[in-house]
Amino acid sequence: MADCIFCKIAAKEIPSSIVYEDDNIIAFKDINPAAPVHVLVIPKQHISSVLDLDEENVALVGDILLKCKKIAQDLGIAEKGFRIVNNCGREGGQTVGHIHFHVLGGRMLSWPPG
Ligand code: 5GP
Ligand code: ZN
Repeated sequence: MADCIFCKIAAKEIPSSIVYEDDNIIAFKDINPAAPVHVLVIPKQHISSVLDLDEENVALVGDILLKCKKIAQDLGIAEKGFRIVNNCGREGGQTVGHIHFHVLGGRMLSWPPG
């Protein structure tokens, strides 16, 4: 999608620090990390948010969760614990309109979120 920063990252038009990639998914380090490990996992296909999931594309999310697990294991945060976050909409804290899942770890994470 034109003017979508994460579509441009998926297309390698904008550089990023990629930690995982396959035909459907790409994962890269967050430019402004909130934890020692902070990776964003996205579908290459443009989906704006959870609100745009449907029967046709929801299988991608299951695949993304498996890749979040693999990334957590590969980056060494699986054993101690980590968090997967999806922000949806303005009050949910979503700032980029291309669905993404944060994988955060490497420190004690507090709860509830702000
Ligand atoms: P959201 O607030 O939408 O849940 O998360 C968007 C995330 O994308 C933020 O954590 C922000 O730091 C990250 N981000 C925004 N622009 C870029 C970028 O150009 N490159 C990378 N690697 N991360 C970005
Ligand atoms: Zn996009």
